Amino acid sequence: MNEPTQWMKKEYEDLVSKGFDWQPPVIQGPSSARSMINGKETVMLCSNNYLNLSTHPKVKKAAIEAIESHGVGSGSVRPIAGNMDIHNQLEETIARFKHRESALYFQTGFAVNSGLIPQLAGKNDGIISDQLNHGSIIDGVRLSGVKKDNRVVYGHNDMGELEDCLRKITKNCEKTLVITDGVFSMDGDIAPLDEITKLAKQYGAMTYVDDCHGEGVLAGGRGIGAHFGIEKDVDMESGSFSKAFGVVGGLVAGSEHMVKYAFNKSRTMLLSGSAPPATVASCKAAIEVLESEPQHVERLWNNTEYFRKEIQAMGFDTGVSETPIIPVMCGESHKAKTLSKELLNDGIFALPIVFPMVAPDKARIRVMMSAGLEREDLDAALSSFEKGGKSAGVI
Ligand SMILES: *Cc1c(COP(=O)(O)O)cnc(C)c1O
Repeated sequence: MNEPTQWMKKEYEDLVSKGFDWQPPVIQGPSSARSMINGKETVMLCSNNYLNLSTHPKVKKAAIEAIESHGVGSGSVRPIAGNMDIHNQLEETIARFKHRESALYFQTGFAVNSGLIPQLAGKNDGIISDQLNHGSIIDGVRLSGVKKDNRVVYGHNDMGELEDCLRKITKNCEKTLVITDGVFSMDGDIAPLDEITKLAKQYGAMTYVDDCHGEGVLAGGRGIGAHFGIEKDVDMESGSFSKAFGVVGGLVAGSEHMVKYAFNKSRTMLLSGSAPPATVASCKAAIEVLESEPQHVERLWNNTEYFRKEIQAMGFDTGVSETPIIPVMCGESHKAKTLSKELLNDGIFALPIVFPMVAPDKARIRVMMSAGLEREDLDAALSSFEKGGKSAGVI
């Protein structure tokens, strides 16, 4: 008898044979600068917990208190019976923090992009997207009704190509949406959002920036809009609470009418249960900590500048990184994998990023800085990089 799911076993085994399967390490306890990983205390260099807020006492306390006052689940989707007072309070806090009229909180950043983008452009419209945009944006674009010819990609941060796309698409389409990551997660570079919004405005196009890696990081934590001083010029600013804020959740901020539309149209908002009280309360507390304790963002950037300077001085190439995402370029995949293994032997956890996530000759170790790292953690990592980099033939 033919077993109908046998093909999955085959495909999985194929992944394993190519070394493309994931074997995630087990984090035994909280995610922090030093974490217990597979039974060993390890310096964490690949979490998105930039500000180390996932263990901050005020953020934890908010979660515990919200469970006591509101329970563990919201009971429904937002539009029906899952709209609690704390959801509204969080959104007011986000809007204030972002200096925008209004904001909407989603279950995840992925749910923002996959739920809202399809509602922003339809069959007579166009979408223009940066070549290196995040997979959740790509999925959102795929779910839209935009015709294939009117979904175009411009070369990464290439403003000349963006203008060519704008000229062509705005001529053929009723509405046009330009969409970009704020900080690019593989290289740690920043989109020229000031130029993008200027060009888009010139052609009457809408702008959408996904600032998942910029929030809590750029401009004292306020993100890319504030970084360029153009907060009011971006039509949709989306983001995540799973990174610098140390919790989980997604957001979109902008005008009141955009937020009302997003609430009423995004299928991930309408058809998926709202976030639980503990999560909602800790997201609000994380923003408040960020506003009242500037030292976390300062420490993040001090660590970033120290690590980048020192690792470059050893002869490593960190590509175009301008943020706490620091790719340590290795060239071929096997070099990155070897180096990562050596680091782990020394108690340093930093993952290799290899083909197909990046080009075959652009394999790297992606280091992510955190405010929680002490100078001795960074020095331990640096000396392991130097030793491993030499034996792997990277430097
Ligand atoms: C992480 C990330 C997301 C997804 O955010 P989650 O809140 O983790 O679902 C979306 N876009 C970008 C650019 C990201 O880096």
